Amino acid sequence: MIRPTHLRALVIAVALGLGTGVATGQPTELIIRNGTIIADEGTVRGDLRIRNGLIDEIGEIGERLAAGSGAREIDADGLLVLPGGIDPHVHLGGNWVDDYTSGSAAALAGGITTISNFVTLRGDQVAEAMAQATAQVETEAIADVILHPIIGDAALVTPQLEALARSGHTSLKVFMVRPSFDRDVPGFLNLLATAGDTGILTMLHCEDAAIVSTTAERFITEGRGALRFYPDARPVLAELVATQRAVAFSEATGAPVYLVHLSSEHALRVAEEAQARGLPVYVETRPIYLHLTRERFDGLDAGLFMGQPPLRTQQDQDALWDGIARGTIHTIGTDHVAYTREQKLDPTQTVQRHRAGMNNLQVMRPMLYSDGVRTGRITVEQFVALTATNPAKLFGLYPAKGTIAVGADADLVIWDPDETRTIRDEDALSNTGFSIHAGREVTGWPIVTIRRGEVVYENGRVTGRAGSGRLAPRRRWKPPILN
Ligand SMILES: [Zn+2]
Repeated sequence: MIRPTHLRALVIAVALGLGTGVATGQPTELIIRNGTIIADEGTVRGDLRIRNGLIDEIGEIGERLAAGSGAREIDADGLLVLPGGIDPHVHLGGNWVDDYTSGSAAALAGGITTISNFVTLRGDQVAEAMAQATAQVETEAIADVILHPIIGDAALVTPQLEALARSGHTSLKVFMVRPSFDRDVPGFLNLLATAGDTGILTMLHCEDAAIVSTTAERFITEGRGALRFYPDARPVLAELVATQRAVAFSEATGAPVYLVHLSSEHALRVAEEAQARGLPVYVETRPIYLHLTRERFDGLDAGLFMGQPPLRTQQDQDALWDGIARGTIHTIGTDHVAYTREQKLDPTQTVQRHRAGMNNLQVMRPMLYSDGVRTGRITVEQFVALTATNPAKLFGLYPAKGTIAVGADADLVIWDPDETRTIRDEDALSNTGFSIHAGREVTGWPIVTIRRGEVVYENGRVTGRAGSGRLAPRRRWKPPILN
């Protein structure tokens, strides 16, 4: 495991009481005792030592690690020690009510230590937009952050991909669902091919622009514009055909594609068939598709559940859980979008014009644990792979993040697998002040969250400081071996 050489100087500074830990009121050493550690090399019962923000030593039960002077010890008997979560897909800032600070707070309380925000590029101002977002991260974030630029104009951005990768941004996003995609398909294919050659992973929102826009238009004309018609106004067919194209684009260019928020069985089968042929097709799904179905649109509060794509059927949900268990779905991204309840319930919304997305950072991991691990659908190791290790590998963060190993960042969660809580609006740390899952009983919660060695959440409170999060260094994309 590689350690930066400047650490040697830092170790001396810490010994003199000048370390960063002292400055922030944190002990210079942290020992987690007697936990069940879901580590890179397998599950270990024992102690874990953290020094200078990194995992320093892992000792199996029986070889009790001696504490240095001033060390803080945390008893994790009966608890799990997991890698901090990595959410590959969030939307913070802009017109939404969560910024990097409130988004980080919700994430850390939910056991997520790295969040991945999208940055909209204006024209060819790539370096400027990334620098501006980085400055915001450095003043507002508590969690660590990676950034995905959203590409609207392929021709303008393609020549800048090498510079983007060199500055540590090794992913980008394209919305197939926007009419601008179909206006320049050759341009986007060049972008995809160049991204692949440059070591950049292309994330694709797979819904067909023409099917989505004309179907919604027809529903409005026919007087079926109300939100209860939304699942039919934005059909699975739109996702299916775009997923087929995404796979073909990957095959035509040899470039990897990452399909965001895949929602349906039909689309999953297309991705699985591509994977079976060895194509680099990676699949993310989103918590709402795992925990909710389209019947939610029958209620008066349908607006709360608006997302793109819509909620699907029970059969789709079962297929997604099955894909997670079989490893054909690789990651879970919250697609966290923060609107207030009033905004989400705005009665003027239609199948065509509405506020899509909901806040989910705080409860994503607990709900996946509760409905996935507790029910036996997935193992705790799969839970860790889906929510930490796989995103770390796909987005160039591994082995510094996404895993528990000596030399890795000490991004950790002490997790109580037996703690049962009911999700409540008043506990929401998102500025939205509510959760669409309020009232749901969930078993398995973070007790302590540690980001680069600093305790940033404990006793139900986020203790990390805004501005202590940072842009995480990333490698270029290369074919990963996923768990
Ligand atoms: Zn999104």
